[in-house]
Amino acid sequence: MTKHIFVTGGVVSSIGKGLTSASIGMLLEARGLRVRMQKLDPYINVDPGTMSPYQHGEVYVLDDGSETDLDLGHYERFTSGKLTRDSNYTTGQIYLRVIEKERRGQFLGKTVQVIPHITNEIKEAIHRMADSDTDIVITEIGGTVGDIESLPFLEAIRQFRQDVGRDNCLFIHLTLVPYLKTAAEIKTKPTQHSVGLLRQIGIQPDMLICRCEQHISREEREKIALFCNVDLEAVIEEIDKDFSIYEVPLSLRDHKLDEFVMKRFHLTGQPLKLDAWDNLMFALRNPKHEISIAVVGKYAEHKDAYKSIYESLDHAGIHHQAQIRIARIQSADIEEEGPERILAGYDGILIPGGFGERGVEGKVQAIRYAREREIPFFGICLGMQCAAIEFGRNVVGLERAHSTEFDKDTPSPVICLLDEQKQVTNMGGTMRLGAQPCSLQPDSIASKAYQENTVSERHRHRYEFNNVYRSQFEAHGMQFSGLSPDGGLVEILELPSHPFFLAVQFHPEFKSKPTKCHPLFGAFVGAAIQRRTGRNQRNASAKPSESTTNPPPVITP
Ligand code: GLN
Repeated sequence: MTKHIFVTGGVVSSIGKGLTSASIGMLLEARGLRVRMQKLDPYINVDPGTMSPYQHGEVYVLDDGSETDLDLGHYERFTSGKLTRDSNYTTGQIYLRVIEKERRGQFLGKTVQVIPHITNEIKEAIHRMADSDTDIVITEIGGTVGDIESLPFLEAIRQFRQDVGRDNCLFIHLTLVPYLKTAAEIKTKPTQHSVGLLRQIGIQPDMLICRCEQHISREEREKIALFCNVDLEAVIEEIDKDFSIYEVPLSLRDHKLDEFVMKRFHLTGQPLKLDAWDNLMFALRNPKHEISIAVVGKYAEHKDAYKSIYESLDHAGIHHQAQIRIARIQSADIEEEGPERILAGYDGILIPGGFGERGVEGKVQAIRYAREREIPFFGICLGMQCAAIEFGRNVVGLERAHSTEFDKDTPSPVICLLDEQKQVTNMGGTMRLGAQPCSLQPDSIASKAYQENTVSERHRHRYEFNNVYRSQFEAHGMQFSGLSPDGGLVEILELPSHPFFLAVQFHPEFKSKPTKCHPLFGAFVGAAIQRRTGRNQRNASAKPSESTTNPPPVITP
């Protein structure tokens, strides 16, 4: 029978439940178990697709086209169990399902209530994850214990344990154990209170993972165990990781988390196998190169807005044993100060996806700068559309080339609305979403990177390259190296005359893993390393006065 682990969070929000849940999943997979991950989010939006990145960070897209919480990105990067629409439910989705049932008359004659109707719907969502191919389902409950919003989810998992039996469920509570500088000691009271809140609603945690800045002594752990009614071996510290998030599973392993879970569920599994993870930590700790990449976006100041992109760059760095310094640059700043002032010295420029007009001209200027100075360039979704706009204006000679998303009346609509989008009026879940096949042209940068003829990548867009302009662009040296199998949609464009200029309509960042970087990120970072190595060699042989620009200061997200 499938076992269930529930992860809740206490004391403060942003405590890192997503990363911790993913790390638990990763460790259990490394013990040979088949794990599936799920997140239940207490907000009322049906999915995060209509929320601004300021509110919610990036929207993570799955193969099946569902728009989900960014924690699902951690899950996919750390574990291999398939994620689907069932892997992320919000309060909004749960209520929508119940209200639709009510409208269909499924509860005829009854009063529809939070208990049992909403809680039953939540329990069904958890049950949907358990099948004969799954040993463990890990369900993370969003929000913080004590919030009004998450109460129905907590009540549902309390009932769930009653339904399936104590031996088949494990409650893990992630809490904060702060260090008070003035008293020079760590404080366990917030954890005690948070567990007290959980107990009030009938949930006794089996394990506490304590986020902390300072090591928690055995005496302090004994105190937490005693007051919170938890086994001493199940009070685990998770000290802040300054170096890398990839240390988290290793630290949980050092505190024998997997052993506790296996014992508690009476499972044997295999001994821990973490070779691939150990190798990636070695590459991270022993970089042979150092490069800097500028990510030019609308929401650059928000560290979670392009989360998967930053992580994919790191994965490519691990692959090449290179340390990557990422500068998050506001595209609107380029409009004010010009690309030379802001972009000089970087080894590569990446433009991520986005919506809305703000900062678009800054992106176009950044792309022109990368194209003309032969700096490796990687455009993603809106980044590709801006590359088409830039090339249209400055190479093909279509002075007012634009996307109809930003200028409805442009005389040269090089980017226009997808046909399938013309009738769409609802905003939620209506874009071209999820996995789509793409055929690659032989001898292109793309096919060399992928080493495949056809690939599948995830999409999230409404606009596309306007085919009316294809031959004109080709005549000026652009290659459309990736197309939908029927040839109707441009998925990848590149410039064969440039050291590395490649842009894609899809989101490769959703398919990159720390142990296996995405081929296009790998190729882009490889080109940036080549450029840096060339410049270093030129610098070394040049007289001091002739040396090229020093690398700029960078901000690592
Ligand atoms: N706004 C563009 C579109 O809808 C690009 C979307 C994106 O970058 N994800 O097509």
